[in-house]
Order: sequence, then C-alpha cells, then structure tokens
Amino acid sequence: MTAARGTDGVLVDRYGRVARDLRVSLTDKCNLRCTYCMPAEGLPWLASPQLLSDDEIVRLVRVAVERLGVTEVRFTGGEPLIRPGVVGIVAAVAALEPRPRISLTTNGLGLDRLAPALRAAGLDRVNVSLDTLDAARFARLTRRDRLADVLAGLAGAAAAGLTPVKINSVLMRGVNDDEAPALLRFALAHGYELRFIEQMPLDAQHGWDRAAMVTADEILATLRTGADARTGADPRTGADPHTGASLPRAGFDLTPDPAERGAAPAETWLVDGGPARVGVIGSVTRPFCGDCDRTRLTADGQVRACLFATEESDLRGALRAGADDDELARRWRAAMWGKRAGHGIDDPTFLQPARPMSAIGG
Ligand code: SAM
Repeated sequence: MTAARGTDGVLVDRYGRVARDLRVSLTDKCNLRCTYCMPAEGLPWLASPQLLSDDEIVRLVRVAVERLGVTEVRFTGGEPLIRPGVVGIVAAVAALEPRPRISLTTNGLGLDRLAPALRAAGLDRVNVSLDTLDAARFARLTRRDRLADVLAGLAGAAAAGLTPVKINSVLMRGVNDDEAPALLRFALAHGYELRFIEQMPLDAQHGWDRAAMVTADEILATLRTGADARTGADPRTGADPHTGASLPRAGFDLTPDPAERGAAPAETWLVDGGPARVGVIGSVTRPFCGDCDRTRLTADGQVRACLFATEESDLRGALRAGADDDELARRWRAAMWGKRAGHGIDDPTFLQPARPMSAIGG
C-alpha cells in the first residue's frame, strides 16, 4: 500500500498506517529488577538533564494530540509511578482538547496509594504487570519481595475505578509457564482482564532465545487443558503424567472474541462463553505490525516509530533549541513516515535495538 507523505495532519507512514496511540515513557528507572528485563544492579540511568521535564512532556503530548491526531496516550517506563510529577502530567494531558483516552502501564507498586489521585487527575485505566501469584517465585523473578504490594495495587486500581484493570503476564519456560491457568482463574475471580505477552528480544542482557520462548499457541493450549501445578496434569494431554489417567477438566473453553480487534495488539478469546475474556499478545509468532497504530516518545524526548526501531528522532534537542509546535509536528511526522513494515524479528539480519524495553517504554 502506498500513502501520501504526511506534511500536515496525522502521523501516517509510507504503508498507510496512521499512528493514533502514543506511548510515553516517564522514566527509564524501575523499582523492580525483573530477570528478563534488566540485570540485578540496574542499568546506567539517564542523567536528569537528559530527561524531559514535566512541562516538556506535556508540550509534546499536546502537539501530538492537537496537531497529529493522537487519541490515546499510555504512560509507561521504566516504572511511571516513580516519576514524582506523574499525577500532574496526567491532569495536564486530561485537560487537552480533544481529550485523549489516558492509561498507564505499571508494576503496581504504590498504585494502591496513588490510584485515587490518578483517577481524579483523569487517568482512565491501568495495565498492571504480574507474572506470578507465588510470593517466593515473584521475589526470584523480580528480585524484590513485593507480591503483596502488587496485589494491593490491583485492588486499589479497581476500587478507584481505573477499569477495566488489565494484567500483563510474560510466561517463561521453566520459570512460570505452569501458571497460566492460575493467573486466569485469579483474574476472573477479581474481574481483571488478563493478557499474556510473548517474550520479546528486548532485554538488557540480550539473553532472549526464540526456542525457549513460550508461544501464543502453547499458552492457549495450556489454558484449554488447564494443566498447571494445581491439577498436576500434563499440559499437552490434560492427563496425569504418572498414570496417564485423564484428570477432571480444569481448563477453560476459549472461543474467538467476536469483537473487532482493530489495532489492539492482543487477540482475545471469550472464556467459557464470556463475557470474561483473555488476551494473548503474540508479538513474535503472530505479529500485528500491519495494523500497528503506535508511536513512542522516550523519557529523553526521542520519537520511535516501533519498539524494535534502531533509529530515533530527537525532539528534545529541537524543543530546547526553540522549535515551535509546527516544527515539532513536522519532525514527528517525518520520523513516523520512515516506520518499517514489520519488526523483522524473524529476519536473519534482525538486530536487537540498542535500548532495552525499560529504556524505550514498554
Ligand atoms: N514498569 C512498568 C510495568 O512493569 O508494567 C512498565 C514498563 S515494563 C517494561 C512494561 C511491560 O513490558 C511489562 O509488562 C513487562 O513484563 C514487559 N516486558 C519487559 N521485558 C519484556 C520482554 N523482553 N518481552 C515481553 N515483555 C516484556
């Protein structure tokens, strides 16, 4: 597909995709150390002068909303809740016209305390990351003993009306891949919407291994058989692995969700006939690049057309050199025009981006 180069109006790329969904990283720092994301000692964080100020973030989001047709703003990081100005930034973005929908992706720490203020400021909903319900496993996986705080954060978000509360889970082989059914049971019991995300080559340690990745197909199969530590069933057969006897069905009936998927990264299924749903974001095995409507702004003011882009476009430099809104919008359009057709993970020439997920904004 070809498209007319965007010189005014929306963020269109040469394949005709239009970016309406802006992901804004508020910081590259995090208060967890998930083993699949960053090393125990953390990373060389951005220095303060490199970070956009609160006002600079709001200005760039305003340009995106007023001039570039962005209708969805998602704050992320690093951990966005550790940015001191997060509530004020949300309030300023909620005051923009036309008002974008505003969400936030968080590890949930401190969310119970902050949820009412975020809701009052105009936050619409949250995605909370949670990969395990087992406290000891959580402590190993995140290198912090904080499961109870995440669960409190989830409850606090729901109580404050930041709904639907969504949970993001990454499954890793031999680490937590036996927990898919338990995570879904937990989400259903509390009215949260669960999404599993395939692990992507975006870790700081460059340890991602395609062969070890738990695929969307495997996740769905495990949910259908319900095999996990609780039932003791073999994940492939649903049978007792020692006797071969078939165990009482503990799995879920998953049927494709008739709702329009649009540009949503998650494919969703109705659970046991609905209305509850579960989603799988098969970024690697079921890529959705053709429908991608995202543009990204890093905490240091770089526009990225894709999580996996190796190029960035510097808006902070232009902004600090006195660029007006027209000029910032022009640069943003130019950056998006060059968006590649796909992330290319399966291409033999694929290169993992220099920045890890936590520094791009997941
Ligand atoms: N700190 C916030 C949080 O925990 O949600 C926001 C940033 S975090 C990088 C966003 C999401 O990216 C989390 O759900 C995390 O599990 C996920 N993530 C991190 N590294 C990943 C990887 N290599 N592949 C897939 N998802 C990843």
